[in-house]
Amino acid sequence: MGSGIVVVGSSNTDMIIKLARIPKPGETVIGGEFSTAAGGKGANQAVAAARAGGRVTFIARVGDDVFGRQAVEGFVADGIDASHVLEDTGSPSGIALIFVDEHGQNSIAVASGANARLTPKDVLSTHDSIASAAVLVTQLETPLDTVQAAVELAAEQGVRVVLNPAPAQSLGQEILKHVAVLTPNETEAELLTGIEVSDDAAALAAAEELKSLGVEAVLITLGARGAFLFDSDHAELIPGFEVEVVDTTAAGDVFNGALAVALAEGSSLAEAARFANAAAALAVTKLGAQPSAPSREEIEAVLAR
Ligand code: ADP
Repeated sequence: MGSGIVVVGSSNTDMIIKLARIPKPGETVIGGEFSTAAGGKGANQAVAAARAGGRVTFIARVGDDVFGRQAVEGFVADGIDASHVLEDTGSPSGIALIFVDEHGQNSIAVASGANARLTPKDVLSTHDSIASAAVLVTQLETPLDTVQAAVELAAEQGVRVVLNPAPAQSLGQEILKHVAVLTPNETEAELLTGIEVSDDAAALAAAEELKSLGVEAVLITLGARGAFLFDSDHAELIPGFEVEVVDTTAAGDVFNGALAVALAEGSSLAEAARFANAAAALAVTKLGAQPSAPSREEIEAVLAR
C-alpha cells in the first residue's frame, strides 16, 4: 500500500465583503472592505493535508479563468500534485460570495460552477493515483455520483476512505459501506441519523447508528470539545485543544486533512484524531479558509505542549 493521500472535491474562490450590515433585497450598503481567499472544502482539505506533511494529489475541476488559475498556483505552491485538476472551458470556477457583518454573522451565496461538472469519469481516469494511495478523502460539494465512484474505486483497491459528509446531505448505504472513517460535525450527524448530538450518550447513539449503516469508524467533531471516536473496539472523547478563537471557517476541513495525514502515516484512529484536533485548533486562531491551515511544525508544537 502507498503512503499518499488523494483528495477528490471542490475548489472555490471566496470573495468576502465585511460591512456594517448585510444588504437586504434591493438595498445597497456602502463602506465595506473586500478580500479574497482560496476555499472550497476539497481544496481546503488538500491544502491542510499538504501543510500537515502529507504527499497529496488533488482531483477537481476549476474554470478556464483567473480564479481557477490562481487556485492551481496555490496548490502547486503547497506542493500538491495538481495534474488532475482539470480546467473546464464550459463553466466558470466555483465562487462563494460572502457578506460578513460587524457581529461576525455571515450570508453566503455559492455558484458551484466547474465543481458541479466533476464526473465519475474524471475520477476513474485517475485510477492509478487512487489505487496507489493510502487514504482517499472526499466531501459532498461535488456531485454524489462522483463521490460514489471515488469511494467505490478506493475501497476496491484497499485504500482507506475518509468521508466528510459536508455540506449536510442524507446518504445511502451504497456510499457509507465503503467508508473507513466518517467525520460528520454535530449537525451532519443529526441529519444522517435523526439523533440530536446533545451529549456523549447521544453521540454514541448516533455513531452506533452510522456504524449500522456500514461505516467502519465514526469521528463526530464537537467544536471546541474535540471529537467523539467510535470504532469496533471502543468509544472515546478525544479532547480538543484550548485556543483563542478568531475564525472557525474551515476548522472541519483542516481536521479532515490532518486526520488523513496521520492515518496515512500509520497512526491509530485515536492518535490521528488528536493530531487533527491540534491542527484544527490552530486553524481557528487565524482568519480565512486555506490561509489558516497550519504547518507540520506548528501542529507538533501544540502536541508537545
Ligand atoms: P465544522 O467546522 O465542520 O462545523 P467543528 O465545529 O466540529 O466542525 O470543528 C471541527 C474541529 O475543529 C473540532 O473537532 C476541533 O478539533 C476543532 N475546533 C473547532 N472549534 C474549536 C475551538 N473553538 N477550539 C479548539 N478547537 C476547535
